[in-house]
Amino acid sequence: MVQYLVILLDDTSVSYCHCNNPYKEHRLISLDDLRNGILYAMKENLMIQFVYPDYDLPEEYKEKIESIDHHNIVSSLYFDKLMFEESDVVVFQDWSSVSNYDFEPGKAYVIKTTKTDLFDRYCSLKEILGKVDRLNVVITDVEKFTDGDFESYKKVLSELSAEIEKLYVAGKSPQLNLLTDRMMLSEMNNCGAGETNITLAPNGKFYVCPAFYYENEADSVGDLDKGLDIKNKQLYRLDHAPICRHCDAWQCKRCIWLNRKTTLEVNTPSHEQCVIAHLERNASRELLNSIRKHGTFLPEQDEIEKIDYLDPFDKRADWQ
Ligand code: SF4
Repeated sequence: MVQYLVILLDDTSVSYCHCNNPYKEHRLISLDDLRNGILYAMKENLMIQFVYPDYDLPEEYKEKIESIDHHNIVSSLYFDKLMFEESDVVVFQDWSSVSNYDFEPGKAYVIKTTKTDLFDRYCSLKEILGKVDRLNVVITDVEKFTDGDFESYKKVLSELSAEIEKLYVAGKSPQLNLLTDRMMLSEMNNCGAGETNITLAPNGKFYVCPAFYYENEADSVGDLDKGLDIKNKQLYRLDHAPICRHCDAWQCKRCIWLNRKTTLEVNTPSHEQCVIAHLERNASRELLNSIRKHGTFLPEQDEIEKIDYLDPFDKRADWQ
């Protein structure tokens, strides 16, 4: 069931996920489409997430936005101080402004990175973890991971785990999507594109997620006049994902767009996506066990089992 409506306010709205936004020219959603999008969300009882470009919106847009309960996703380059204070999620498109940034608690931060940049610069995350409540690291070239990269990623996760362990022992509990989400989950928590959330683009049409809009404007799944029309919508659900439904890497985003890009099927992940998610899962297991050894309080959590595989597809014989 759809619960969230993402509204891209402009073609240049910040991209917060695995895809990059190719649009360079401003195209603001029309005031009518914004009004009707908000009305649609009210009728369907959806929580709205507005995604901002990095320029100041006209006053009438701000007034309309303020008329409904919502969350704001902004770029780290956003310059409107008032708006920035009201943001819930701040997105860094790369590492260029990360080191001098004034991170503060109470917001979620997203750092988008290539694998190479992550391997070179992850040490700076240690300091940030001490300042924020939540940090999401989003890798933008998952499909390019090699066996050597998996080893490098394992090392990155291990070093970040050591830092998080220290912080927990010191009484803090920062969240890092790569390591702490799996510790806290008891079931799958995927991105939900096409199932629990849907995107309204500046052209007034619905898309499975922003990436589907960026990739091909003709890929819409309905519009504000005719409503939502998702073909084969069961394919976006976990129970129709033949590999993922057997998996316990519950923190995995199970990115529908990446699935389609890499395997041409929205419900089938690539080997790279699965191995990365399992390296995170296994590092979370070790982190959970280490934190417990200190007697540090953690909410009641089930053990994370030890497993002997990194890609669930390798265990398909066991699913029969
Ligand atoms: S690790 Fe692979 S199988 Fe498991 S949820 Fe993620 S994409 Fe699906």
